[in-house]
Amino acid sequence: MEDRKLYETAQGMLDNAYAPYSGFSVGAALLTADGIVFTGVNIENGAYGEVICAERTAAATAVAAGYREFKAIAVASSKGEAWPCGICRQFLYEFSPAMRVITGADADHLESAVLSDLLPHGFRLEIDGQTAGGPEAEKEGAR
Ligand SMILES: [Zn+2]
Repeated sequence: MEDRKLYETAQGMLDNAYAPYSGFSVGAALLTADGIVFTGVNIENGAYGEVICAERTAAATAVAAGYREFKAIAVASSKGEAWPCGICRQFLYEFSPAMRVITGADADHLESAVLSDLLPHGFRLEIDGQTAGGPEAEKEGAR
């Protein structure tokens, strides 16, 4: 799937974002290695610590459905370019360090980066000498 289409899918989610406090709506579209797209939105809460970002909403939905290998995630916001926060970078790194992250001011001005470049030396827990996550995560861990 091309970057633009994935980004437009993320944009299409903006109306579902729940952001009454910040007014900063975010939509995400996560592309799995199998070519399936999972979407997410940011969900705020009156107890501010309970906020969850669009990227993690999409990833949690994908993992719950049995998908753990991701190719790319596109992030759109009501205020233009929106790179994932540190928590989301680490959350996604668990599964696919080599995935691409796509965002931009609009669909005509997209930028992308490899997740491991956005999170240098990301945390990987090894158990019995093996990293968790999908096969892509294994490859990244072996670099
Ligand atoms: Zn985040």
